[in-house]
Amino acid sequence: FHAKRQGGDRTSLYRPGEIVRRDSDDLQADLAAALEGGEIELVYQPIIRLSDNTIAGFEALVRWEHPRRGSVPPSEFIPVAEESGLIVQLGLFTLERAARDLALWQAALREGPPLFVSVNVSSQQLLRYDLINDVKAVLARSGVAPETLKLEITESLVMQNPEFAAKMLEEIRNLGASLALDDFGTGYSALSYLQRFPFDTIKVDRSFVANNGSTARPVILRSIITLAHDLGMDVVAEGAETESDTLELIQLGCEYVQGYLYGRPMSSQMAHQMARRRQQPQQSLARSA
Ligand code: C2E
Ligand code: MG
Ligand code: MG
Ligand code: MG
Repeated sequence: FHAKRQGGDRTSLYRPGEIVRRDSDDLQADLAAALEGGEIELVYQPIIRLSDNTIAGFEALVRWEHPRRGSVPPSEFIPVAEESGLIVQLGLFTLERAARDLALWQAALREGPPLFVSVNVSSQQLLRYDLINDVKAVLARSGVAPETLKLEITESLVMQNPEFAAKMLEEIRNLGASLALDDFGTGYSALSYLQRFPFDTIKVDRSFVANNGSTARPVILRSIITLAHDLGMDVVAEGAETESDTLELIQLGCEYVQGYLYGRPMSSQMAHQMARRRQQPQQSLARSA
């Protein structure tokens, strides 16, 4: 495919492995240019407080609009960024932009509890680079209350190196930032590990949230929510797509949801407008249940 586009029947000169390598080399060069050239943007997905249907905060999700390839999903370019070291620049960009947008929203919306923003942290960012200093710098520059900046760390990342992760997370907590355990339920962690990490939120992976008809699913969901609460953590359910999923979550005592039912990832301007509209408590599914 790739070699063919460049040189007709030269395809046969490349073995499949080399084609893949060349393709990711291209992506790497393009990503470096994209970071300079403003092709990388953040979009925001609302996280809803189920007790009154207001917006509690937003998750920042990175987007790359490539001039030729179109939109490249984060699942494709985050690994490339990690391999090449560009994750340092990308990670700082996302933290900085998210905190800057948050500061603007907070200044404009003065009623109710302050909004938070959640930023995803990748493996190399946590394990190899100086994330602590980035967080410190971004908090200082943006002026947001530290606890309203939340870092999302996946369960599988934490389990790659639990000892070291625990130390880093402690340091982040000491700066006052919040921590969410992302994609919970997919990373095969021993549950006993949970008490060693200073998370204040657990995000239940969407594979347990959307009703797939399995009888085990509600049992697992209930156990995760109970466990989180017993450890003093809040729960965000990811990937709520229907009202019936959400009603079930409310009945199980889940505090927050994020999913297409309440909003897809959107521009910072749209997010701001949505937050403005939903500052007042709303008729919630919780109250009609
Ligand atoms: P994640 O952190 O678990 O983010 C949630 C993903 O689920 C997002 O996909 C979101 O668009 C999608 N989603 C939300 N609600 C629903 C729903 O109701 N149904 C379905 N089917 N999907 C839903 P997205 O934006 O493609 O991001 C994928 C992953 O890429 C993220 O998973 C996160 O691990 C990573 N990622 C995104 N942005 C960043 C970033 O800035 N830095 C790093 N390191 N990773 C990022
Ligand atoms: Mg996330
Ligand atoms: Mg997630
Ligand atoms: Mg997920």
